[in-house]
Amino acid sequence: MKCLICSGDSAGEVCNKCIRLEKILYQKEWSYKEGMFLKKSEDYRIAISNMRISGRVAICDNPKGLNSRLDNMSHYLMNVKECTQVSYQGKKTLMIGIENNTGENAKYSRYCFLPGFDDVEQLVNAIFDAKKKAASLTERIRQSNGISTGSVEVTPTQTSADIKVSAPVAAPASMPTPSAASVATPVPKPVSPSPAAAAAAAKPASAPKPVPSTYDTVALSGIATDINEFETKIKKLKVLRDNGILSEEEYLEEKKKLVSIF
Ligand SMILES: [Zn+2]
Repeated sequence: MKCLICSGDSAGEVCNKCIRLEKILYQKEWSYKEGMFLKKSEDYRIAISNMRISGRVAICDNPKGLNSRLDNMSHYLMNVKECTQVSYQGKKTLMIGIENNTGENAKYSRYCFLPGFDDVEQLVNAIFDAKKKAASLTERIRQSNGISTGSVEVTPTQTSADIKVSAPVAAPASMPTPSAASVATPVPKPVSPSPAAAAAAAKPASAPKPVPSTYDTVALSGIATDINEFETKIKKLKVLRDNGILSEEEYLEEKKKLVSIF
């Protein structure tokens, strides 16, 4: 299948190259006892990053929660269509509807149930916030790959009336962050940019949000087996740096991590 962010070949909805820029923004683990008589406690987990929603939840192909199975899931955040409180096994439960309609990948709908989860509003608000970050990150990755055709839209998330979602921040520039502003992230300098990427890079004024200055690296902890892989990773890091996705500091830090892995 194709990566929904960069269109590169990928085993999942987001490829390993993009996952390298993933930053976890929210996560929670909890236990829930299921069943009427033989109560068995199961561990659940949910995480929201600037790209994906992932975790271990009850998964169904129908919104009624019939024949659910507890399993790991991971989806591109923009595919989250719905967060609603429903009745699941007789109890009020958060359901997250996920739908893929984009790209060349197979279309599907999937329903995730989070029984016993008590942090609903924080989670739903985290999804709203993270979608904005996912949109800007997606845009930057596409630009650096020369495949950007414009700004990436934040997909709508439907919620039920009993979930309070904070009003969308209309003007993020109104939040003063003097310390962050003084540590300005270097403006991306695309190497031999395509006309589209150049045009997009030429209007940074339309992007009021400061570029996030750090990215946790999840993928790099994957064990690399030989020196070729090390060299490939260093090369990729350089590309990310040269395209302004990683700052010089981040680049050096990631390089240091790589060296320590090998
Ligand atoms: Zn990708």
